[in-house]
Amino acid sequence: MSTNSELMARREAAVPRGVSNTHPIFTQRAENAELWDVEGKRYIDFAGGIAVLNTGHRHPKVMAAVAEQLSRFSHTCFQVSPYESYIALAERLNALAPIEGPAKTIFFTTGAEALENAVKIARAATGRSGVITFAGGYHGRTMLTMAMTGKVLPYKKKFAPLPAEIYHVPFPHAPFGVTVQDSLRAIDMLFRADIEPERTAAIVLEPVQGEGGFIQAPTELMEALRALCDKHGILLIVDEVQTGFARTGKMFGVEHSAVKPDIITVAKSLAGGFPLSGVIGRAAIMDAAEPGGLGGTYSGSPIACAAALAVLDVIEEEKLIERANNIGAKMKSRLEAISRRNNTVPIAEIRGPGAMIAFDVVATRGTNEPDADMTKKVIAKARDNGLILLSCGVYGNAIRLLVPLTASDTLLDEGLDVLEQALTV
Ligand code: PMP
Repeated sequence: MSTNSELMARREAAVPRGVSNTHPIFTQRAENAELWDVEGKRYIDFAGGIAVLNTGHRHPKVMAAVAEQLSRFSHTCFQVSPYESYIALAERLNALAPIEGPAKTIFFTTGAEALENAVKIARAATGRSGVITFAGGYHGRTMLTMAMTGKVLPYKKKFAPLPAEIYHVPFPHAPFGVTVQDSLRAIDMLFRADIEPERTAAIVLEPVQGEGGFIQAPTELMEALRALCDKHGILLIVDEVQTGFARTGKMFGVEHSAVKPDIITVAKSLAGGFPLSGVIGRAAIMDAAEPGGLGGTYSGSPIACAAALAVLDVIEEEKLIERANNIGAKMKSRLEAISRRNNTVPIAEIRGPGAMIAFDVVATRGTNEPDADMTKKVIAKARDNGLILLSCGVYGNAIRLLVPLTASDTLLDEGLDVLEQALTV
């Protein structure tokens, strides 16, 4: 059996550095919220494959649904010969999603593809080109979604020219000194300086910025954007790729406000570890593209559709929405207690709805001065002690906790013990 360092040496020789690894550990197997590397070392998984595993690694119901599907067929291409699971999943998402009136859903494979197609659909429905997105937002690494992403490093460096007609405005966040009014003023200025509202197809945002640092869009912003979109005939697209499927203590993150978007993009935890994404939207909008204009060879894979139907059952049966709120409350109170100790790395801004929890590592207690180097050290120390963590945030100093919602209290406590130890100086 190869060691982690032997595999890392092979990886460096065979795979380009453009795809990076947070943790130099090679997975051998994983179960619910635990993972074992090739050297037999056990880790508690607070990363969940970047928000993909709300139902945990290898949930038995998801595995059974996939096995059943594999026993019949693995692929036909929905465009060639469709299958019922695709339709059944669309029907369930249409009923679940907070969309006004009748909804329709189309499936793809990755989150970025869902965002690309949401913009294509919005352009077809409005006959307009412009797209407004937010600084700090993340929507993917393809050409269009890279342009939509509001972070230069590491996502855009060396990849210009970027697609045209994408405009960024600041996202409200008190520690950065940005208010909702600042964001709205920036849109108003954009309409005066760069693009008229009549040429703007869509405003796209995450209900809680994920890669940007787990920063929740205030209800006041959501309501103001809805009103602005209604006034100018612009479509409101909510990117639920990271926030969807119980993570925030609601089925969809946007449900923390009463605002109903025109289009919602989903992926990640939708299919519990199988590649599947979707665009859900108002039926009339979703039908704007011409037949053949949307799709893809693997879009809506039958294996992933089977997994997703099981994921939706598990969320309901195991009350994972409620569970997300319990997990979040437990994590927050533990982090608050850690932040009051004076022999720890200074942390600040413990935040996030449901179980979408993050905190900042700061240079000095009581300030917001980011310390990205210390963040990396904390994450490495936690890993050495058996806990997998991820960072996020525009300054790289936020630590985010994305534990499977199926994790037991015992495992959660054990993970938080390791986190506390990693923060202790
Ligand atoms: N949107 C959001 C909000 C995301 O968090 C991500 C992935 N981190 C994406 C889009 C892109 O998804 P994918 O990596 O599957 O293309």
